[in-house]
Amino acid sequence: MMGMNYCSECGKSVEVSIPEGDNRPRHVCSTCGAIHYQNPKVVVGCIPVWEQQVLLCRRAIEPRYGYWTLPAGFMENGETSQQGAARETLEEACARVDVEGLYTLFNLPHISQIYLLYRSRLLDIDFDAGEESLEVALFHEHEIPWDEIAFPVIQESLRLYFADRNRGVFPLRSGTIERLPGEARRFRILLDDDPA
Ligand SMILES: [Zn+2]
Repeated sequence: MMGMNYCSECGKSVEVSIPEGDNRPRHVCSTCGAIHYQNPKVVVGCIPVWEQQVLLCRRAIEPRYGYWTLPAGFMENGETSQQGAARETLEEACARVDVEGLYTLFNLPHISQIYLLYRSRLLDIDFDAGEESLEVALFHEHEIPWDEIAFPVIQESLRLYFADRNRGVFPLRSGTIERLPGEARRFRILLDDDPA
């Protein structure tokens, strides 16, 4: 559970307890009684494609500074997941896309996130590094810097994308990525059944 010391409703201190009728610990305000629920966040992004190439961004922020990723970020209130994916692509890569089908859906329970990545078509190649990117570039499949990809969810989505492109079909791919115990960054990827 993420730390919380003070109630966002009244400013008094909160304590951790299981509210009546609930079954898990929550931050509960001992003064006004507000229950502060914490739920997973949705990350939305694009796999922007220009001809045979995919656009990647090199991160200018932590975590994973200097590593390559697809444009993606937290969904904002009041937008659809497709709008969020296009907005993140504009912010991080200054790139305009036509958002096509939903392609990957990954659960990341160790960080309480769910990722939705959309296939998308770049409308032009006037892209540029946004504030959160050091550089932005197009890559053919054989040029992808596989050892310098920021996150396993991005690496697996790219791997699936090229495999499916070579087969000529893009079914929705879904699964779960678990972080294995220990200090080392090691993960297990569990794909749901192949829908094809
Ligand atoms: Zn309160």
